Amino acid sequence: MLDPATGKTLAQLPHATAADLDEAVAAAHRAFPAWAAISPFERSNILRRAANLLRERMDDHARILTLEQGKPLAESRGELTHSAELFDWYAEEGRRVYGRVVTGRVTGVEHIVLHEPVGPCAAFTPWNFPSLTPARKVAGALAAGCTVILKAAEETPGTAVAMMRALHDAGLPAGCAQLMFGNPADVSARLIAAPAIRKISFTGSTAVGKHLLRLAADGVKRATMELGGNAPVIVCADADYDLAVASLAGAKFRNAGQVCVSPGRFFVHESLAERFAADVAARANALQLGSGLDAQTQMGPLANDRRVEAMERFVADAEAHGGKVLAGGTRRGKAGNYFAPTVIAGLDQDSLLFSDECFGPIMPIQTFASLDEVIARANAVEAGLAGYAFTTGLASAHRIMHGVQTGMIGINNLTVSTPETPFGGIKESGYGSEGGVEGLQAYLNTKLATLG
Ligand code: NAD
Repeated sequence: MLDPATGKTLAQLPHATAADLDEAVAAAHRAFPAWAAISPFERSNILRRAANLLRERMDDHARILTLEQGKPLAESRGELTHSAELFDWYAEEGRRVYGRVVTGRVTGVEHIVLHEPVGPCAAFTPWNFPSLTPARKVAGALAAGCTVILKAAEETPGTAVAMMRALHDAGLPAGCAQLMFGNPADVSARLIAAPAIRKISFTGSTAVGKHLLRLAADGVKRATMELGGNAPVIVCADADYDLAVASLAGAKFRNAGQVCVSPGRFFVHESLAERFAADVAARANALQLGSGLDAQTQMGPLANDRRVEAMERFVADAEAHGGKVLAGGTRRGKAGNYFAPTVIAGLDQDSLLFSDECFGPIMPIQTFASLDEVIARANAVEAGLAGYAFTTGLASAHRIMHGVQTGMIGINNLTVSTPETPFGGIKESGYGSEGGVEGLQAYLNTKLATLG
């Protein structure tokens, strides 16, 4: 694994063999009945202890996360806090798995609706949020009474190791949560094919998600898919302008844009567009780029060189489609994966930035004239994860809320991810939710028992 700030090798990662994976599946299978059978109250206590340990170890874990992924330390702390709060949330919510009793049509008959854990699960998580994405899956699975094997990203393994240690130290029984690394395609194929694995959960690109779904189909296994996004942003003529500029410039460059719900395609009303582009470009130019470990840094390096190369391709394509680079546009520095925060205006609808997820620090801006037209353009991609809008008009807010085809929509507020609320997409961004009461349901089967 490499340090994204310097390109130097940080450590060597051992890969699981096929026999290791089989052993992990056997352990998850063995541990499942006892974990499913202990009371939700006891499970809750373990998860809560893990949350507290994650908070106690925050400084160490934040350093690991920044070192291997690149984001500034303050962002790493924010991510780790969110992860600990996910464990808190699921510790509580796991105690509220209620069934119901339906009185039968024949006197004396009762139908009882039960919720049972689906069984051992396999979870696959990416490198952009090395703590948050595993926390969503592992905490949800464990709270529901499932055991889980996590294959975290090989590029950012240290944060996942630290989380597993916290769970172990919190008293989680052996076999309930295990961590594996290896060749992603080999690990996922073997785990998904294992008969004992009853559910998969994946966060990553749409292409890989489709592949895993095909593998899961063979065993008719349940799946939660949190895939790529390409969030539209609509800034209406009646927007609170200062709020829109400050919120969007802040959110776009968070984690250097490597966020599945990052604001992606910017549609700004023609009456505001020029001013908006100049103001966000000024903010982008003012951002302090550097190592995430440096206290002054506001944006770190990209997590890997693939992203820098992708940014160069997006900028070249944008320029070929009429785009004018108002800030950034190029790689920075001789070492490390630095790419300048970038703002591009004037590019046409055929540019790649308006069809493909950029997953990096580029803000492409187009103008629009009418709400109907812009909602159609917002929906003209296969992705449907998050969307955003700024307007002070109730009627516009209403039309956007219902008209934009995404799993999450933020209007005058960009918060779409909290432990208490469901996080997930529609269309090719996947299905199933993580967080909220829905996040727990994702790890439960519904069973009907009729008592005569
Ligand atoms: P990628 O598609 O090769 O990998 C994405 C993630 O999936 C990685 O963590 C990788 O280890 C894992 N993966 C790849 N093949 C796998 C397999 N067969 N089985 C299990 N896991 C597998 O791409 P990448 O270069 O790492 O990232 C590129 C694109 O992925 C980005 O442009 C973005 O669209 C998407 N992405 C999305 C998210 C998200 O949060 N939804 C996170 C990371 C990457």
